[in-house]
Amino acid sequence: MDNFKPCFGKFEKTSKKTLSLIFNDKSEILFDDHKTTFLHERNFNIDQGYKIFEGDTKDIVLFCDDKISNQHDNFIKKAQTFSLLDEEKLKIYARASQLNTWIYKTKYCSRHGTKFENVTDDLGKYCNECGFSHYPKMSPCIMVVVKHKNQILLVQHKNSPHFFTAIAGFVEYGETLYEAVKREVNEEVGLEVSNIRFFESQSWPYPNQLMIAFFAEAKDKYITIDKSELSDAQWYDLDKLPRVPLATSLSSKLIKASLS
Ligand SMILES: [Zn+2]
Repeated sequence: MDNFKPCFGKFEKTSKKTLSLIFNDKSEILFDDHKTTFLHERNFNIDQGYKIFEGDTKDIVLFCDDKISNQHDNFIKKAQTFSLLDEEKLKIYARASQLNTWIYKTKYCSRHGTKFENVTDDLGKYCNECGFSHYPKMSPCIMVVVKHKNQILLVQHKNSPHFFTAIAGFVEYGETLYEAVKREVNEEVGLEVSNIRFFESQSWPYPNQLMIAFFAEAKDKYITIDKSELSDAQWYDLDKLPRVPLATSLSSKLIKASLS
């Protein structure tokens, strides 16, 4: 696979090969017949697209076209894509899916209801009433694995009962990332944490989070579970973990890294 670098601009046909990535009006993405890829080598004869990655030998072009939906029945909903993507493909999909929402689905200024002028080469959408351009927004979200001596704390969310994972939550206005980590841990399990260390981050297209992962340490292990969000929380020995999220997710990498 090419070494793809993010770029942005209206697609112009050149001699360089392209990989087409196609959404329909319902934000579903076209997979090939065997659901092995959403990057298509063939030409779909769609007029307007945006180049969103530049590779060594191929570029990736984003299209949104509802007509093609009538000719192909293998469009896949966003929620179905996660289990089909490896880490590299998830990265491409994350950018494509969020750009698709911004370019093709965000049509009006939320303050004035005025129709935006079309997206320009720098992603800005201009509102005549505001007098300035609007840009896409993403939601920062922290996740943290808390350690105490030789155990880690994992939680089971009410809406994801099939695995245990890191504590996570959205960053609030005015907060630093470290403050968000301390608040979320305290809200969800009643612990005070220190020695907070950054691990890695990941763009997460379900729908538009930037996940930012941390390790932290707890002084004691007496937890009070927030039953409105969690169905369970447990301390685990490092060699006896429960079922955790799929390996592609940052939470899984964070849990694995916390074992060393
Ligand atoms: Zn406006």
